[in-house]
Amino acid sequence: MMKQEIPYKIYLEESEMPTKWYNVRADMKNKPAPLLNPQTLKPMTFDELKQVFCDELVKQELDDTNAYIDIPEEILNFYKMYRPAPLVRAYCLEEKLQTPAKIYYKFEGNNTSGSHKLNSAIAQAYYAKKQGLHGVTTETGAGQWGTALSMACSYFGLDCKVFMVKVSYEQKPFRREVMRTYGAQVTPSPSLSTEVGKRILEAHPGTTGSLGCAISEAVETAVSTPGYRYVLGSVLSQVLLHQSIIGLETKSALDKYGITPDIIIGCAGGGSNLGGLISPFMGEVLRGEKKYQFIAVEPASCPSLTRGKFAYDFCDTGMVCPLAKMYTLGSNFIPSANHAGGLRYHGMSSVLSQLYEDGLMEARAVEQTAVFEAAEQFARIEGILPAPESSHAIRVAIDEALKCKETGEEKTIVFGLTGTGYFDMVAYERFHNGEMTDYIPTDADLQEGFDGIPKQPE
Ligand SMILES: *Cc1c(COP(=O)(O)O)cnc(C)c1O
Repeated sequence: MMKQEIPYKIYLEESEMPTKWYNVRADMKNKPAPLLNPQTLKPMTFDELKQVFCDELVKQELDDTNAYIDIPEEILNFYKMYRPAPLVRAYCLEEKLQTPAKIYYKFEGNNTSGSHKLNSAIAQAYYAKKQGLHGVTTETGAGQWGTALSMACSYFGLDCKVFMVKVSYEQKPFRREVMRTYGAQVTPSPSLSTEVGKRILEAHPGTTGSLGCAISEAVETAVSTPGYRYVLGSVLSQVLLHQSIIGLETKSALDKYGITPDIIIGCAGGGSNLGGLISPFMGEVLRGEKKYQFIAVEPASCPSLTRGKFAYDFCDTGMVCPLAKMYTLGSNFIPSANHAGGLRYHGMSSVLSQLYEDGLMEARAVEQTAVFEAAEQFARIEGILPAPESSHAIRVAIDEALKCKETGEEKTIVFGLTGTGYFDMVAYERFHNGEMTDYIPTDADLQEGFDGIPKQPE
């Protein structure tokens, strides 16, 4: 097909939207390791997990065999408010870079929450409602997940209690107010409203909190409040399942024009957008049908894949959650305060960790200032002001396109543009003022986190 026949934006028709999620675990020979009960070190059972999570979501979490799972009609209808998401051909960027590479990005920022997180938030809220629950609890760091969940809960008339990492609560008042606009109750964490919050505040008076700590508070509140369950915006296999909508749409759009990608790139925090984007393509690789190069991009300041250990670890600071086998920096690892945006979680999805361990995916760590250079360049050329998280993927997509310029290769590069950065202007401001620095933890810094990884079960 001729170049000019591919439009700037490939939009699917609503009727072409996927009606099933794809579960990549079904095609994995080495399945991700099961979640373990931290007391007994035995795999978590349905009955144990359903005290924390909604029943249907526990089923999805434990399902390593069904490749396709129907998307309920109510969720499909909600998706139609902001999906299908466009697959954009970055002609302007290609031109500016003078690269023979063909660059595409899947844009997930076209909804009020500003990111892909709504894809899973609406699914999780739906199953909670269907189970007749009163509400859900969660944590939020940078605020995107809390915003997405607030939107989803208000749609289904569910209560939503968000524990927001205190430093973000204070520094990102606009995110907080968006959540309240959608009816959520937002509490700065650590708080005095939970036992674990009180313990953490006693041990560390004046702490500005962490994601791991907010998770502990949200879980405690869910299990101690009748009619509530806890929901999580990333890391879990069910979240990757819901996010497969990103990859399925991307694949349909590419197939429509007979395009085969060579490289697929995504930023990796807990792994949900990357997992969702690559899932259908990874399925083809796992079934021996195709070959692609997959690249996970993480911040050099929080390098769970590139420098972490593949081990069972705690998912939260309070150690109330199950143990997950993943690439981890240790649940005590606190990323440097100068780090902008999300992608600061100490661990990584068990699914992606296993794929990485098996050599099916690469990972790269990039430095913060290089990420913001790419972000600004992208904003000026392609028009969209990207989220700092998404800009990690932009950085590596540009690097790969520049390599093609040197070698003359016409590679097709697809990356995930997970969201917009309007709520991250303080970070952009620091970049513009030349106040942004790079932080790379030393081996000794990382060792402190590794020391907190529990003794591995037999
Ligand atoms: C939360 C977030 C991420 C990282 O989370 P994953 O679960 O790794 O996808 C990336 N980009 C944006 C815009 C986000 O809000």
